[in-house]
Amino acid sequence: KIISVIGKGSFGKVFLVQKVGSGAVYAMKSLRKDVILDYDQVESTMLEKDILLKADHPFLVGMEYVFQTDAKIFFVMKFVRGGELFMHLRKQKQFAEDQARMYAMTVAMALGHLHSQKIIYRDLKPENILMGEDGYILLTDFGLAKILEQNEMAQSFCGTPEYLAPEILEEKGHTFPVDWWALGILTYEMIVGFPPFYTGSANNNKMYELIKTKPVFFPDAKKHGIFMSDECKDFITKCLKKDSKERIGTINGVEEILSHPWFASIDRNALLNK
Ligand code: ADP
Ligand code: MG
Repeated sequence: KIISVIGKGSFGKVFLVQKVGSGAVYAMKSLRKDVILDYDQVESTMLEKDILLKADHPFLVGMEYVFQTDAKIFFVMKFVRGGELFMHLRKQKQFAEDQARMYAMTVAMALGHLHSQKIIYRDLKPENILMGEDGYILLTDFGLAKILEQNEMAQSFCGTPEYLAPEILEEKGHTFPVDWWALGILTYEMIVGFPPFYTGSANNNKMYELIKTKPVFFPDAKKHGIFMSDECKDFITKCLKKDSKERIGTINGVEEILSHPWFASIDRNALLNK
């Protein structure tokens, strides 16, 4: 039974639904097959389904049921009650560094889990992070994810403008480090309130130029009232290395990310066990 619309996606809507009989509630994402075909998304939709079905990680949204009609595909997922991290961030304007650190580390662990299965996520942003009832966040929306075989590079120009890594803009092929770039953008946005290369213009070309060339600027604690520790700035700077070969996480993956001093105050097993 459909209760309400809770989200609008690129290929369909997300509904709050209730199971007839038990009364259990779920989030149901509907995808139109004609649109999937038009946009050549058959393979990526299959992968989205596989990831949701197999997702067995405390920080990834999993799927309960999947079914189809002639015209549509339906993913019935756990309903995450707290809404998008995006909404919480806009309401609070900025998160304190401690709060941002916990979210960043949670996201890093979720991304690390995907990478360990050769999956590159490619759509990190506050809209795709959901707030659980217990205050822990979950990553959702695997619509842009891709499996990368050894030494394979992804080629498609996809993602959300503010979060695109320089190598995606240059269209020379990209791989797992694009997710660590996006983690740097997310961390900055959580603490500052807007992403680092934001221009406010509707034209993305200016922003793309800044992403490729401009060093990240950190606000001043006194002048702008935004506090960031040196470890935090160092972490963001290392995520936002323009050259992916120099970026943190490129050599040793999530291990390199989690061993950064900014995360030293959080016990990763305690976090994983919530
Ligand atoms: P799209 O690929 O079109 O962006 P998403 O999978 O991101 O679709 O879903 C769109 C929106 O629907 C999300 O940003 C979120 O607000 C809401 N949503 C998606 N899945 C869930 C869920 N399991 N629980 C609660 N809300 C959800
Ligand atoms: Mg989404």
